[in-house]
Amino acid sequence: MTKKTVRDVQVAGWQTLVRVDFNVPIKEGKVRDDTRIRASLPTIQYLIDQGAMTALCSHLGRPKGVDPALSLAPVAEHLGTLLGKPVRFAADCVGPLAENAVAELKPGEVALLENTRFHPEEEKNDPAFAQRLAMLAKIYVDDAFGSAHRAHASTEGVAHYLPAVAGFLMEEEIEYLDRAANHPDHPYVVILGGAKISDKIGVIRNLLHKADRVLIGGGMANTFFRAQGLKTGDSLVEPESVPEARQLLEEAKDRLGLPEDVVIAQEAKVEAARREMAVGDIPDGWKILDIGPRTVKRYAEALRGTRLVVWNGPMGMFEVAPFAKGTEGLARAVAGSGATTIVGGGDSVAAIAQFGLTDKITHISTGGGASLEFLEGKILPGVAILQDR
Ligand code: ADP
Ligand code: MG
Repeated sequence: MTKKTVRDVQVAGWQTLVRVDFNVPIKEGKVRDDTRIRASLPTIQYLIDQGAMTALCSHLGRPKGVDPALSLAPVAEHLGTLLGKPVRFAADCVGPLAENAVAELKPGEVALLENTRFHPEEEKNDPAFAQRLAMLAKIYVDDAFGSAHRAHASTEGVAHYLPAVAGFLMEEEIEYLDRAANHPDHPYVVILGGAKISDKIGVIRNLLHKADRVLIGGGMANTFFRAQGLKTGDSLVEPESVPEARQLLEEAKDRLGLPEDVVIAQEAKVEAARREMAVGDIPDGWKILDIGPRTVKRYAEALRGTRLVVWNGPMGMFEVAPFAKGTEGLARAVAGSGATTIVGGGDSVAAIAQFGLTDKITHISTGGGASLEFLEGKILPGVAILQDR
């Protein structure tokens, strides 16, 4: 890790501004899924134990101006329950309300500031707004890896005015994703799936040269089938990506693995008739909705003896039970591979949880877009701005 972390700076007795990713689902004033809140607890607890005065800030949703439905107030209450101590809530993230809340904090106390996106200056990365945020503290800790690909005032701008270090979640994400993108142990296998090839073509391009094999599944395989001249029936295909897929196939040769069999149906419904077939022309009116059992077996074999496995994107439409077998089979193979395993992507992480395998994965990335950009080899603005060791 080349970036300074919260361990490298003196925080005891200091006002500390912490950017977290508390962009959680809230319904009827209650937090419905607190995974993201729990992910930052180690950093928050550390600051409490060290005797820092901690002001947390985050965005929530996509408000246009102040929107009470997107207030972080319910999160303050929920966080208080998780920490077992009250969390003060400030109804604004800058200005007198925020300043007073921070001024009243004693060492070891925590406040949560209101949704940063209630101010349009946040997404514009307005320097004056970033300075107003910076005025609240002496140190900035970034624990919001999921927002690090965006140069906003609370994720990047503020770090121009304060010493900026990584929180523990940020540190873990950088460590694992840096390994995947820049310093992999070999043999190294990358598995990519999901709906669209256009979302992940940059990742394929970058990792094709780092990994020993890149195995493809999910809807994105269909565009490769079309590039090979096969008929794809009613399958999801992105015609504008066919030339690029063809180029990748030529460039990659056998380093790129494609499914050898697939599961097809006329509709993505539980009651629809389902057929397994070897990859070939797909009949009109039918679509590919999962990888087949032979592909699962072959991909699982490719994971044997590997030291690093990165997986992003389900192998099929796993939300519909009859088309979840490919994703489940591969998830079990990844979990049991004995390698260091990294899983990213909202749907892939949900799939892993659905199969009860979360604890068997070395690192579950919390950042969807941020982890994809990292794997594309891009420098994330929220990471770049942190102080080097
Ligand atoms: P992640 O969130 O893990 O990055 P994506 O968002 O890229 O994954 O893709 C997940 C979606 O891809 C799921 O909703 C799944 O149903 C869909 N999907 C996977 N395979 C297919 C397929 N063959 N046809 C249509 N949709 C698919
Ligand atoms: Mg997704």
